[in-house]
This record gives sequence, structure tokens and C-alpha cells, in this order.
Amino acid sequence: MTSGELTGKYSLGGILKLPRRCHVRHDILICHTTFREATSKLEPADETADKDLCDTCDSRGYRYTSDIRMAVTLSRFVLVMTCSAGLVTLASGQSSMIGQERHPAESDDNAAGFSATKYHDYIIVGAGPSGLQLGYFLQRAGRDYLILEKGDSAGTFYKTYPRHRKLISINKRYTGKTNKEYNLRHDWNSLLSDDESLLMTQYTEEFFPSADTYVQYLNDFARKLRLKIQHGVNVHRIWKTDDEKEGFSIRDQSGNVFTCRYLVVATGIWVPNEPEFVGKEHVVGYENMTLDLDWYRGKTVLILGKGNSAFETADYIQPVTNFVHLFSRSRVKLAWETHYVGDLRAVNNGLIDTYQLKSLDGVLYTDINNMQVIKHGGQFNIRLVNDFEHRGLHDNFAARSPYDVIIRALGFHFDDSIFDKSIIPKLGEGEKKKYPAIKPNYESVNVESLFFAGTNTHSLDFRKSTGGFIHGFRYTTRALHRLLEWRNHKYPWPSTTLRTTQVMNTLLKRMNEASGLYQMYSVLGDVIIINDTDTVYLEEVPVQLLPQLETATGHRAPNKVIVMAMEFGKNFSGPGSDPLRHGTATTVPKDAHLAGFLHPVLYYYSHLPTDDDMLRRPLKWILPRPTRLHHVIEDFLFDFSSPVSHVLHLRRFLDTVFGYETRNYFAGSCFKMAMTHTNVPKTCQDQYLRGEGLTHAKS
Ligand SMILES: Cc1cc2nc3c(=O)[nH]c(=O)nc-3n(C[C@H](O)[C@H](O)[C@H](O)COP(=O)(O)OP(=O)(O)OC[C@H]3O[C@@H](n4cnc5c(N)ncnc54)[C@H](O)[C@@H]3O)c2cc1C
Repeated sequence: MTSGELTGKYSLGGILKLPRRCHVRHDILICHTTFREATSKLEPADETADKDLCDTCDSRGYRYTSDIRMAVTLSRFVLVMTCSAGLVTLASGQSSMIGQERHPAESDDNAAGFSATKYHDYIIVGAGPSGLQLGYFLQRAGRDYLILEKGDSAGTFYKTYPRHRKLISINKRYTGKTNKEYNLRHDWNSLLSDDESLLMTQYTEEFFPSADTYVQYLNDFARKLRLKIQHGVNVHRIWKTDDEKEGFSIRDQSGNVFTCRYLVVATGIWVPNEPEFVGKEHVVGYENMTLDLDWYRGKTVLILGKGNSAFETADYIQPVTNFVHLFSRSRVKLAWETHYVGDLRAVNNGLIDTYQLKSLDGVLYTDINNMQVIKHGGQFNIRLVNDFEHRGLHDNFAARSPYDVIIRALGFHFDDSIFDKSIIPKLGEGEKKKYPAIKPNYESVNVESLFFAGTNTHSLDFRKSTGGFIHGFRYTTRALHRLLEWRNHKYPWPSTTLRTTQVMNTLLKRMNEASGLYQMYSVLGDVIIINDTDTVYLEEVPVQLLPQLETATGHRAPNKVIVMAMEFGKNFSGPGSDPLRHGTATTVPKDAHLAGFLHPVLYYYSHLPTDDDMLRRPLKWILPRPTRLHHVIEDFLFDFSSPVSHVLHLRRFLDTVFGYETRNYFAGSCFKMAMTHTNVPKTCQDQYLRGEGLTHAKS
């Protein structure tokens, strides 16, 4: 057993009597007892011996916390007890050690193959970009958390992927502006933090940075912000602590058990999709293909797949191969046609050029499940099982020439094998089955209190927005944190109280600068709660949560609300659409609702929509039909501040919603109107009531 620092303040002495309420699960003995929190009132260790487990200590001024969990790894006969106060380890019921929370770097975990760990309020599984991002917010909020990571540093995914080492997220260093929030619209790799040195734009000039640089960036992020990560912890099993509504136990590869009240799984999607077909053993996976170009020299290669990893692979080997063919069931989806960043990006699509400009390479439609790979000498032939059209009739089958190498690049899916069978999270349906199915608050649809972060949450916006990618999930992770702050600690969603006259300028500022709205279009929206005397502005709320706005954010919204989100036109994007054709842009304000390119859309509801309204919303709509809808006309410069096309029309919308003129007048103008009109605008009346009318100037 490992030894640790004995601190008089926290340590237990003597022989531990096992509490009675124990049971065995997964080779672990789990016991429940009552334990008080270590406070400054705790007496020295000797005197507190045994009392730490006593149920009556509160009479001596100690504070109780909820149940703690104790676990004995039977095979090693070591007892681990965790509690919110400190770490307790007892071996064979004789020696004892309590360590205060130590920085991961200082931990002596895995010495002798066993580590005792303390309870944490929050455990995040995975130190990829999303785990780090959430760790940052939890740390800033002063929460007790720990990130468990199987790799020996952060960003393990990016140490291997993309295999050909070039990210597809852009690193735009120059925008002509110094506004930091605005610039994040074009920096797709940086995580959110207050440390300005932690911007990926400062790490490299490359527009598509190297994955190695990104690994360095992520590790700097973790180190500089002193995030609490325990490395080398490969989570093998997660189960729910029996008698707590919330609370999870987590066991790693060495049998160590961690417990937490709130669990966030940020493990990414790693498990390669490997369809069954005859001869699949002849196929090499994208995940372990060699990067040695000599191996592909003068060879004919077939790649199964038509996504970014397939095309990225084709681009890499193309210069040394005879030719490369790509197979998949569906047509190639070009990102610039679909506006979905997960579709084939121009940076990877060189093979389309060589295919269409007749340079031997090619792309074929084939159902891979119907395919057989037959080894013939050192080469591989392809046969289609149900190809009735061609079988025996034609001799011009497109893939009739043998291949030297076949590579599978068919994407990845979420690993649900780490969950106990009692809490296996449901997966999404259809195309989304590679992700866990989650509610708009990022909680599993079937496992209460199990939350997800990062690319694991992409079932919510798959092929609709950017939540599967860094520039999207850095904002959904912030949203998750804000939801957890209210749910678990009763800190409402951050808000600003605005006067009616400030709403318009705030909306204009947000549509012209905000990055979260821009990146997570259709998914995150600003919500304005309109009260009798003021308005409350909440930024970047998941719009799907609108029916539950009050319970999810802690803000009352009894009456009117406005939601502003960014959206592409509903019929603008899709495989085969041509966004480059002449006349795609809408320029006349009265046709703003026909706009195709990304633009702000404002939904006004006289009352919050219900869950039922949300379910019955029209096809392709992100929200139910509102009381009033306003599209801000799309703009080529993405600058929505033209006085007439943008501002005037927005003002008219707001005046209608508020039921009075919302313009801000100078006190002098208000006074003049009061003298010359029978009525003055409400904003003038409010100013006057606040004592902001014309005052007598002392000479
Ligand atoms: C080939 C490929 C290329 C991509 N390129 C880009 C890109 O250029 N830009 C972009 O924005 N997105 C890209 N993506 C999407 C990508 O998945 C996400 O951007 C990003 O990696 C997801 O971050 P994450 O934190 O959610 O998960 P990951 O980055 O996958 O991080 C998950 C972490 O959890 C750890 N982990 C997993 N299982 C366990 C376990 N059982 N116990 C302990 N730790 C565990 C892993 O070691 C890892 O560190 C790409 C995806 C693929 C498949």
C-alpha cells in the first residue's frame, strides 16, 4: 500500500471498525456511513480517532455531510474511504493515512499498483479539449473536481488523430479587428479562458495547424491554468452509487475506485466503425495504417469511406500511388454545400480534382455491407454480393481491377463499454447512433445525472451545427457549466439587467461580435426576458431548453421573451446545393426571411412555449412558431449595423414587441416633446421618473 502524508488534522487512528451497512459489488466492498466534514473545529488526530465514524459527533460541534462511500478491494485487502473532507486509506484495518487534496503531479498513484483517491464533487472522464474546458470553468467557480485521463498527458486523441497530422479547424490570425470576442469567431481551436497567452493563434502561423502543435497547446492550457488532472487512469467501469439519487463510482484499470456526486463523460468518439463483410481481415484501419509513404509507393489503393479521414488519407498517399479509389454508400457531402464542418472540407478534397480532371483516381457508390474482399495472390478483388445488375451480364464493373491495399476509414463511435449494464446510456438513432442520446441540458436521456461534454454531445446538433467540434463545444461546455451551477449550487445563469432603451444596442452588439452565437448557430441563443420595468438578458442559452427556461436557469420568465439565434436559410444547404450560383444573396430587407446565409433571427413569444409546442414545431425550425418573428437581413460583410436595412427594421420589431417606442431620447428632446405634444414616449416618462429629466443647472 502507498504511504501518504499524515496530517494530524484529518487522520484517523487506531483500528477501523467496518460499519455494518456494507455490500459487495464488482469485487468492491461498499459501505455507507456518516462522516462529518473536516473543519477547523476538528481536534488533533489522536483525539478524533474513531470518532470520525461516529454518528453522534455533532453534539461536539462537528458538521455532518451526506453519506460517504467506503470501498474495500477484496483482492488486495485494502480499504479506501473517500469523503468530502479528505482522503482516508486503511490497510488491513490497521494502518491509516489521510491525505489532503494534492495536485495530480504530486500524487503517488499507482505505486504498488494501487491508489487511494478521495471523493470529488465533480469527476470529468477525459482530458481532451472539452474535458479541459469544463475543468477550467469548474476551477474558476471554485468547485471540487478532478479530470481522469487515460493518457499520460492531455489531448490524447490529437496525439494520434488526424492521422496525417493536419487539423481541419482554422487558425485565422488576422481579421482586421482587435475585438477579442469577435476574433474568436475565426479562431476555431482556442479554448475559452481569461489567459490571453492561451490562444492557438499565438502558437502557429499555419491556417490548418499541425495536430502536434495542438497537443502542446492543450497541455499548456492544462498546466498554466493548473487544472486538476489525474493521468494514467483508464476508466473501465462506471456505476451508480446505490442509495444516492446522484453519485457515481468509477473504477480504473488497476482497480482504483473514484467516487463523485456529479459525473461528466468527455471521452470523445474513438471506437472505429468496422462493418461486417467477407474478407474484412484483409483491410487495414485508418487508426493503425502506416504513415510510411514508401509502403504505398506504386500501389493501387482502395479506401472505404468518403468523409474527411478517407479523403485526408487519399491526399496523403496520392502522390506515390498508381491510383486511389474511394467507396461508400452515400454521395460525397461537401462542407461548403452543406455548411456542416464535419462534411468533406476543401482542404482535404484534392482527390475530387484528380478524379474529375481525369487523373485515374475516382469515387464510387458501393454498399460496403454488400461487399466481399477476395484475396488473390498478393492482391485483393472486390465482389458485390447483391449486384444483380452486373452479375454475369456485364464485364465493366468499375472496381474490377485488383487492389494492393484496402484501407477502412469509416469514422468512429462512442465507447459505451465503460458503463455498468445497469446504466448503459442510450445511443442516438439513425445517423446519430455513434453518440449518446442526450437531453438539451446535456444529460443522458435514460441515466439521470449522467452528463456529457464535447463531441459526445453532438447528437443534439448533428449535421445542424458545430457542437461536435472545438469551436462549437467550447460554448456548449460553458452552457453545461452554467446549467450545473444552477442545478447543483443554485447560482442562476449569468444575466444583465437592461433598460428597454438598451436592448436594441445590446442586440446589435451581440449579433456583430458574439462568438458563441455565431459558432453554435441554431443551437445557442440569447434570451431576453421582458418584465414590466426592465429586461433580463441571458447569453447563449441552449434554445431547446426554452420551455424549461425557468427551472434550467433560475430566472423567472412569466411573460414576454425574445430569443435571438443565428441561422442559415432553411433550404439553403445540402449535398448538391450550389451556394456559389449567381443570385444566392438576399439584399432587400423585406425579403430578409428568404436569406440563405447565416443571419440573426429573433423570435418573440408572449409566453414561454411549452414542451408540447417544442415537439410540434415545424420541420427544420429550431423553435416553435413565435408570436412574432424577425429575420435580420443577411449581410455579405457580416456587419449588421446598416442604419436602414438592419437597425430601423430591428427597431420596428422591438417597438411592436414592447408595445411602445423603445428609442432612447436625450433629456432635452423629451422636454421639448413634453412641451409640444399631448403625449411623450414611455422611455421619456421612465427617464423622468428616474430623475433623469432636465435639471436646473446652477450657475
Ligand atoms: C479523425 C478526426 C479528426 C478530427 N479533427 C478535428 C479538427 O481538426 N478540429 C476539430 O475541431 N475537431 C476535429 N475532430 C472532432 C474531434 O473528435 C473533436 O474535436 C475533439 O477531439 C473532441 O474533443 P473531446 O474533448 O470531446 O474528445 P477527445 O479529444 O477525444 O478527448 C477524449 C479524452 O478522453 C480520454 N478517454 C477516453 N476514454 C477514456 C477512458 N475510458 N478513461 C479515461 N480517459 C479516457 C482520451 O484519452 C482523450 O484524452 C476530429 C475527429 C476525428 C475522428
